[in-house]
Amino acid sequence: MDAPPRRRRALALPELVDGVTAGDRAVLGRAITLVESELPAHQDLAQELLTALLPRTGRAARVGVTGVPGAGKSTFLEALGVRLADGGQRIAVLAIDPSSGRSGGSILGDKTRMLRLGAHPGAFIRPSPSAGSLGGVHRKTRETLLLCEAAGFDVVFVETVGVGQSEVAVAGMVDTFLVLMLAGAGDELQGIKRGILELAELLVVHKADGPQKDAAERARRQQEGALHYLQPATPGWTTPVLTASSLTGEGLDAVWEAVLAHRAHLAASGELGRRRLAQAEGWMWGMVQAEVWRRFRAHPGVAEALPAIEAALRRGELTAVAAAARLLACAP
Ligand code: GDP
Repeated sequence: MDAPPRRRRALALPELVDGVTAGDRAVLGRAITLVESELPAHQDLAQELLTALLPRTGRAARVGVTGVPGAGKSTFLEALGVRLADGGQRIAVLAIDPSSGRSGGSILGDKTRMLRLGAHPGAFIRPSPSAGSLGGVHRKTRETLLLCEAAGFDVVFVETVGVGQSEVAVAGMVDTFLVLMLAGAGDELQGIKRGILELAELLVVHKADGPQKDAAERARRQQEGALHYLQPATPGWTTPVLTASSLTGEGLDAVWEAVLAHRAHLAASGELGRRRLAQAEGWMWGMVQAEVWRRFRAHPGVAEALPAIEAALRRGELTAVAAAARLLACAP
């Protein structure tokens, strides 16, 4: 018979604060588990922990990385991450996979990803929680980012798949948003939506090696021209378009230099502080909105009246405005 699973003693707030602050990986892992927990008692403790750690946050370079599946995100993060970690920096990678936990599959498929970086003593990799709403996943990722900062990481990468909703949320939690692209057969860039390009502070045409090197350079120039028509994501900053290969390592140093240049621009213009403040306010209102919505939907009066109001709307007996007014009246 299997031995019963050993229950770990719950850590109290001071132990969590001290452990995270000391950069203790085991305690950091448990703090993240707490942030990810859906239990109200855990959520309360997690908020106390985050509040206690808040003065120690804010020092890392927060870098978002997106790109379609196959763009080479994990190869890129591994190559760049190992370089930075070898140079003595402490690197955390948080990966948001909007496909995991719902479709059952996973686009990021974390098991075989970033093995070298994962084994590096200066690096820490954490996949996103696979359960919960996307909004909940984003909140947990943002809070995990804060925990990693308090634990002393110099760079926190937040990786997401370039397929939709997650990009805006990730751009809203980082300082620099980097988009990896691929040159297509006709040199055009593939699979990236205009909305995502508008968020980009740095574009990288990836896999610029071997037979694809020339096409990558042509795509880079073409993209550089196209960007003139877009509003820059950071005021006063011209979004650079670079080429890089994570297989040969060519261009990776220039990518990192561009990230640092963007940070320097944010800091010098005062935009870094403004942006982080605006992001924090955005998160606050986002949380309020989500909770107000949840309470409204859970309100017994709303639940009771909803089927009849929806049916009347479908039959054309009520306008959407009148239906909304009736629903709102159910939960004063
Ligand atoms: P992700 O889905 O965006 O995380 O992409 P992966 O990192 O898993 O890479 C997808 C495929 O592209 C893998 O077969 C990689 O070996 C390959 N790949 C990644 N980076 C490069 C690169 O710089 N050059 C070339 N030629 N192939 C690459």
